[in-house]
Formats: sequence, structure tokens, C-alpha cells
Amino acid sequence: MIFIASGNPHKIEELKQILNPMGIELKSTLDFPDAKEVVEDKPDLEGNARKKARHWHEKTSLPSLSDDTGLEVDALGGAPGVYSARFAGEKATYEENTRKLLLELEGESDRRAQFRTVIAFIDQFGEEHFFEGVCRGEIIKERRGEKGFGYDPVFVPEGYQKTFAELSSDEKNRISHRGLAIQKFIEYLK
Ligand code: IMP
Repeated sequence: MIFIASGNPHKIEELKQILNPMGIELKSTLDFPDAKEVVEDKPDLEGNARKKARHWHEKTSLPSLSDDTGLEVDALGGAPGVYSARFAGEKATYEENTRKLLLELEGESDRRAQFRTVIAFIDQFGEEHFFEGVCRGEIIKERRGEKGFGYDPVFVPEGYQKTFAELSSDEKNRISHRGLAIQKFIEYLK
């Protein structure tokens, strides 16, 4: 049994599809509907991922996994990074965050960026393990595509013509930051 320190049904389902066939059952924060959310107040992705995994490991005594993802734009010195979910404000929507990103890059010729995911895993002995996945690409000037979420409509991964929002979820998972971090975690489990 592994505890997934997330209440995002999309992420939990993705992990279930990979881990259940390996004989690993999952529990998640969805099994604790009354629990308070862990505040993500650390200055980097590693810190937030560790904080969430540690919190739930202490609460459940189960090996616990948490991930944190950021979009790091070269011309913005790595911003929005750990603040990707609240780039345009505390309760900002995906749409508002993407609009702010396009505004900040107006007139900028260097559009290179990367998504970075850090998985923190606290094992049954309380030891920490980290797994990182990076997907490089560029930010285009106008949104394209309806799939995915977040900044997907403006991100074209390296070697592709389509945005993440134009790729199928299978294609995206194969090359994405989160997909790569999960693959590293699976290798470790094996
Ligand atoms: P989280 O750590 O997975 O909650 O991600 C933080 C923020 O990064 C999200 O609110 C999204 O704005 C953005 N993000 C994370 N993963 C992706 C992705 O695969 N595509 C587009 N945006 C993403």
C-alpha cells in the first residue's frame, strides 16, 4: 500500500493505472475528506513535495508519495516555478495564469521553458527519496488545443509541433515531466 498525498483525482487515477498492475494498492487524501490541506509554503518544488509526503507519512504510517510541478521559463529567470498555480494571484484560474504568462513574454524572442516535477517518497522506514522529471520546450504566442490542463495550450515540447493540449494523454504521459518522474519512481520500486 502506498499513500498518495494528493486529492487530484486525475493524478490519482494516472498512478492507479500504473501501480495497481504491479500489485500496489493506493490510498489518497480522498480517503480523508475532512483533513485540512497541507500549506505549500516552501521556496522550492522539493520542499513542498517533501512537506506533503512527510505530513501524510506521519498521519498514516504508510509509505507516502507527493509531487510538485512548476513551469520554469528561461527568459523569466525560472519563474513562475514553484508559484505556477498562483502566478496571477492566490486563487487564479489556469486561464488567468496563462494570460499573465503570455503578457510577460510579449516581445520576448527567447521562449524556451521547461516543466519540472519533483516526486518525494517517504518509505516505510521514514527515509526520503526524490525523483525528478524535466520536459523542455517553448511557450508559443497563442493557445492551441483543448486537452490537458494548466499551461498545456501554450507549451510545445521539444521535437514536437503540437502543444501538450493537442497531444493525447498517452502521448503526453510518455514524454511529460510528470511521466518521466513517475517512470524513475517505478524503476526504483522494481
Ligand atoms: P501541481 O504541483 O501538479 O499542483 O502543479 C502546479 C501548477 O503547475 C498547476 O496548477 C498548473 O498550473 C501547472 N502544471 C502542472 N503540471 C502541468 C502540466 O502537465 N501541464 C500544464 N500545466 C501544469
